[in-house]
Amino acid sequence: MHQTDRLEVHMFPCLSDNYGFLIHDHVNNLTATIDTPEVAAIEKALNENNWSLTHIINTHHHYDHAGGNLELKNKTGCTIIGPSVDQSRIPGIDQCIKHEETFQFGEHKIKAFHTPGHTLGHMVYHFEDQSLAFVGDTLFAMGCGRLFEGTPEQMWSSLSIIKQWPDNTKLYCAHEYTQTNANFAIGIEPTNNELMDRKTLVDDLRLANTPTVPTTVELEKKTNPFLRANQEQIKTSLNMSESSDIAVFAEIRKRKDNF
Ligand code: ZN
Ligand code: FE
Repeated sequence: MHQTDRLEVHMFPCLSDNYGFLIHDHVNNLTATIDTPEVAAIEKALNENNWSLTHIINTHHHYDHAGGNLELKNKTGCTIIGPSVDQSRIPGIDQCIKHEETFQFGEHKIKAFHTPGHTLGHMVYHFEDQSLAFVGDTLFAMGCGRLFEGTPEQMWSSLSIIKQWPDNTKLYCAHEYTQTNANFAIGIEPTNNELMDRKTLVDDLRLANTPTVPTTVELEKKTNPFLRANQEQIKTSLNMSESSDIAVFAEIRKRKDNF
């Protein structure tokens, strides 16, 4: 694959624990920001790369994801793409996307998936040809979004969409919550050796102030308790051997809310 065929991803920290993402298509000179957590940080990242904003792609309506939409649209005239389900809550939305709809970003095909749970309208964006996805606040490294609007059933099925993507898919989540999530996950599954190894690695990375994002589908399937609520060793560890996957998922989510 030539350099120009590649989608370039520029990731940067912003607000207290968010990540911002710019994606750039060199062939057509298009630049999108995934969500709009902090206008100044996004503008700085655009300037550093000498890119002009052409699109905003929103995952959900929360202020740390869509709060900068109107200011950036007013300044750049960019096009705002977001979930159809949440069109009334995404400021300035131009193009409404539905579940499993495919659309183009320059040379690149994006497949959108509706992933309710954290919010009812949340969407994640899968760039199949680049083996990467932007998952907003649906999945975090070793964690998942809080259920502000949706049910455990909804979130479990939303996460199962991500689980079905190829193992090597890079997952760009919107917050650096990894270290706390690892500490929590160890308590849920103390016998998972891959989880222990990952926790050690994450502790080292965070000590050096290095991002732990992106993660991968493979790593999450092996270490994320929220994706593993169907695993016998987790059910046993929670004394829930007879319980349904969704009941176990709900229990893990409840424990995390109080962690
Ligand atoms: Zn959110
Ligand atoms: Fe958020």
